[in-house]
Amino acid sequence: MLIKSVSELIGHTPLVDLQIDVPHHSHIYAKLEMFNPGGSIKDRLGQYLIQDAINRHQITTGTTIIEPTAGNTGIGVALAARSYQLPTILVVPEKFSHEKQILMKALGARLINTPSDQGIRGAIEKAEQLAAEIPNSFVPMQFQNPANPATYYHTLAPELLDDMDHPIDAFVAGAGSGGTFAGISKYLKEQNSRTKTVVVEPEGSILNGGPAHPHRTEGIGVEFIPPFFKEVPIDEILTISDVDAFKQVKEMAASQGLFIGSSSGAALAASLKIAENLPDNSHIVTVFPDSSERYMSEHIYEL
Ligand code: PMP
Repeated sequence: MLIKSVSELIGHTPLVDLQIDVPHHSHIYAKLEMFNPGGSIKDRLGQYLIQDAINRHQITTGTTIIEPTAGNTGIGVALAARSYQLPTILVVPEKFSHEKQILMKALGARLINTPSDQGIRGAIEKAEQLAAEIPNSFVPMQFQNPANPATYYHTLAPELLDDMDHPIDAFVAGAGSGGTFAGISKYLKEQNSRTKTVVVEPEGSILNGGPAHPHRTEGIGVEFIPPFFKEVPIDEILTISDVDAFKQVKEMAASQGLFIGSSSGAALAASLKIAENLPDNSHIVTVFPDSSERYMSEHIYEL
């Protein structure tokens, strides 16, 4: 395979039919998003956000891109901005993985850390403050930008239907900004209203009404209801403990040779739970957003 640009490697990731025991002889298929060049599902978002802003003339030569991020979106945005030589500032709460922060810097982005206890809201406020101070700057703002769910509606969702040779009975995905879940669910429901959509959050996230508190599962969990959720039917919300998510991380390496991050572990734990209440031989599709290799400093296999 000869390519001319790393951006050609974004998307068209494999979908694996996991060879594991699933309740009721059902199948779980996982979209392996760690195969994107920046190592996560958010390369798709970075590329789409920058291209969309260029099309809307929100970005011109030399515009400084500023984005609040837990990490993977930062890598995706930095990858895309680099190819247009756009200076990039990423605002990241301190607590997020060092590996991701190192990769963002390697791509040429400037990093600004905000205190962990202020959560993603602290990073959003800081990004807005910087945008007010820096002339010719643009904040894609993944948490509000309709281009976020549109990314997944137009890319990953149709890929799933191309990849699958059975109707999809249930779609399961974690939510951080909510873009992945909202974009894919909207597309799948339009194509087949019988597809059940299940959103996954860690304990400490507020979707199921539980109290907000820190969690170790990284990349998912919300501090406010994602605005994109207003437009999509959610059939079920599953809250997965860190223990259950990390158990699946270990299990996937040992049984499938797959290195998955903790949000993937939570998605798998939720898919297995959903299978208990679905008919025999159901086909459940989920997304593995990134790999365990960017969480080594957090001792992902020792938890
Ligand atoms: N998993 C990981 C590892 C992520 O980085 C993210 C994005 N923060 C998600 C899941 C959730 O994706 P979304 O923001 O589209 O809800």
